[in-house]
Amino acid sequence: MKPINFDGVDANYVGSYNGIDHEIWNHTKGPIVALRHSIRAHYLIEQKFRCAYCRMGKKESHGLSWDVEHIIPKSTHPKYLFEPENLALACKECNLSKLNKGVLVKNIADNAEYPRVPGAFTIIHPHYDTYSDHIEIAVLAQKVSHRPKNRGKGKETFIICDLVRFSYAFAEWEDFNYAIVKEFSDYIKRCPGDATKDDIVRFMSTLNFTVETDF
Ligand SMILES: [Zn+2]
Repeated sequence: MKPINFDGVDANYVGSYNGIDHEIWNHTKGPIVALRHSIRAHYLIEQKFRCAYCRMGKKESHGLSWDVEHIIPKSTHPKYLFEPENLALACKECNLSKLNKGVLVKNIADNAEYPRVPGAFTIIHPHYDTYSDHIEIAVLAQKVSHRPKNRGKGKETFIICDLVRFSYAFAEWEDFNYAIVKEFSDYIKRCPGDATKDDIVRFMSTLNFTVETDF
């Protein structure tokens, strides 16, 4: 995705930031309010209204649904408060779980340049990594489940953002194969004798697993 390019009043404000006082982020008055709004509006479009970490979508734009997310936390590295490549949008749940947890493979000095390589991060970096290389999302009968595809960024993102929370909905099922068979046999039982081909096709489409996850 494309990082934000600050202009006008936003650019002036970002230019005046001292790189230390990250508390200004939460001020409820002044230029930061409009700036946060610009950031949210930009990344909502870039991320196609989906969370950077769980990739679930919400067609809402207000701050009650979306947090502007500092990939490297602003509390540990205030220098990157307005670094466009350190910004993304996350849903409340992912952001709350991720909080101030470290995401760097090796710690870096406070005044270091932003590490612009995927290898510097333990989690899926929304700007540098392809999500589907690391996590697969399955949807079955409106239930969602995330599966890490590797023990590196896939597993780490799954843990740090508590993506297991989606899988609780599957507790009644042993696994996906069981779930598909059960869904299918339940359908056969309740399927009316006069079901049309379209009815059946509509049902079969709910057994579709793949979800487009990449920005
Ligand atoms: Zn999320």
